[in-house]
Amino acid sequence: MILVIGGAGYIGSHYVHYAHEQGENLVVLDNLVYGHREALPEGVPLIEGDMGDTALLDSLFTTYPIQAVVHFAAYAYVGESVTAPTKYYHNNTVATLAVLDAMVRHKVKNFVFSSTCATFGNPQYVPMDEKHPQDPINPYGESKYFVERILRAYDTAYGLRFIALRYFNAAGAAPSGLIGESHDPETHLIPLIFQAVMGTRSNIKVFGTDYDTPDGTCIRDYIHILDIAQAHALALKRLLSGGSSDFFNLGNGQGFSVQEVITACEKVCGKPVPVEKAPRRTGDPPRLIGCADKAHAELGWKPQYAEIETILQHAWNWEQHRRY
Ligand code: UDP
Repeated sequence: MILVIGGAGYIGSHYVHYAHEQGENLVVLDNLVYGHREALPEGVPLIEGDMGDTALLDSLFTTYPIQAVVHFAAYAYVGESVTAPTKYYHNNTVATLAVLDAMVRHKVKNFVFSSTCATFGNPQYVPMDEKHPQDPINPYGESKYFVERILRAYDTAYGLRFIALRYFNAAGAAPSGLIGESHDPETHLIPLIFQAVMGTRSNIKVFGTDYDTPDGTCIRDYIHILDIAQAHALALKRLLSGGSSDFFNLGNGQGFSVQEVITACEKVCGKPVPVEKAPRRTGDPPRLIGCADKAHAELGWKPQYAEIETILQHAWNWEQHRRY
């Protein structure tokens, strides 16, 4: 059985659906602060609670025959992490440590971790591979980076094997339309664009039009949420078949500017996007592009939805018919 922590959130719920369809036996732990009960498939038990709750973890590991933990739960608002770092260090790092300690106590040795390209900080080159130096520039990136360091030490000391997946910009929704992105507040570019199209927001603010990029707007590498789900399944498969601990970057190796995303969204929905130029957002690097050669070669990861049009089509479909 696989314990999925944060399985009711955006990325976690897509993994849960994917793994459930593959016949995996899952149990979800989520405190539903940002997660949605409706995002879970029928038949997957949800334990509502905090991952930092040691007694709850002990009871979970005693009650269920858990072989592996796939861990998505985290606060992920970069701006908030700067103004409220304590929340990020406590939840993303300290509570994760409680999970790892419970795994050690209960002799559960396989851990797949949602990491992030924010552990790298400002890019020194793109596409960014696993050898890129890590120097996070905000508490969110640091809170995940600390876990990466802890994982190395726990592998050495306790034989806890892990795979940390560092994603670039997660986007899109399940092609079925059943689940998708639903953050409150929403800060991500693609859902905000479609909400502006639908009139639930007045416009989309383009944060910075004077970057050193071809059209002056920031470039990001968008990766389909189901491709991320697939990578988690492959990572776990590798661990369960005896593979060693490692780190992998997940991106499509191709960058799109904010302006290019807006134009592609207009094409997908056939409607104009109301746009407003706005100042740069603090801490936004001009260009973030991932190199996933290692994940392709060593995990056998093959993105199914690498085209930006497909990612946007699924996001648009979800935005029009969302259930939560
Ligand atoms: N962005 C924007 N307007 C918005 C939200 C985001 O121009 O309302 C830009 C942001 O500056 C970045 C890109 O869109 O260059 C992607 O931002 P998002 O918050 O979706 O993801 P991030 O790259 O911060 O993880």
